[in-house]
Amino acid sequence: MQKDCTFVKILFDMSFYPSSLFRSGYLFAIIIMCTACEPPGDQAYSSPSTACPCNSQTYLEAASLFTQVSSEYKALCLQAYRQATEHLPELAAASEQAAVVLDLDETVLENSPYTAWQVMSGEPYSPATWDQWVQLASAEAVPGAAAFLRFADSLGLRIFYISNREESQLEATITNMRALKLPQVEPSQFYLKSHTSDKSERRRAVIDAGYDIVMLIGDNLGDFHNGYDKPATNDERDRQVEADRSKIGREYIVLPNTLYGTWEGAIYGFDRSLSDAERCMLRSEALRPAPITGAE
Ligand SMILES: [Mg+2]
Repeated sequence: MQKDCTFVKILFDMSFYPSSLFRSGYLFAIIIMCTACEPPGDQAYSSPSTACPCNSQTYLEAASLFTQVSSEYKALCLQAYRQATEHLPELAAASEQAAVVLDLDETVLENSPYTAWQVMSGEPYSPATWDQWVQLASAEAVPGAAAFLRFADSLGLRIFYISNREESQLEATITNMRALKLPQVEPSQFYLKSHTSDKSERRRAVIDAGYDIVMLIGDNLGDFHNGYDKPATNDERDRQVEADRSKIGREYIVLPNTLYGTWEGAIYGFDRSLSDAERCMLRSEALRPAPITGAE
């Protein structure tokens, strides 16, 4: 049974008023919210007016809206794939066995309907519900992805999809991608997750098969190399971006993903045992607020 979050929501709303009294109570309000609210549990859907504003699902609301509603998201994806299209011919010309490697989720397939479901149901991510979404095989293509893939295919390049979807999800993934009429959607082109999220081994397998990977495309920087993976902190990831600066936008094409990513896991120290309240606190601590005193 979900507890009534009206009181804590009022506190949350009040925290945005330009009063030092209310501002100083902000963190306290968050703590109360995090401990007083429970997920909906047996309730199918929670209305936005009563949803606890401090759980992981509500946290996804803005991220899902940006992906589903904003034209900026679509433009950013088109921008990324335009860069990929412009650089690919030159990069591919340097090799007789050129290959392009793409991640799938939030790179080729757009999964915001799943996170929107999380928000509306109050349910956290789980492998079981994620699999339900995958089995629906109804993800739309990320804007620009289909046109780019057909262009790469027209150049005679091999396309490899290296994804952390489970190997058991291959059939549904192929069904989904064939419905989108994407090229080279054959089992031989997929390297899904078998035992580790680190994609290094799978990139190595492509190279060992005789291909030169001339371009990598992904929404998570770990799609390029494992210097960005766990246990790297966000500061270390930032430094790695500086080191990779000459490749970003050319050999490394980055798609926007506000829904999830290694950056978020790094905030939590990659500790999957944390409660919603603890994750909420760590997100608050990671913010860098301006030194504004506000109206007195
Ligand atoms: Mg991805």
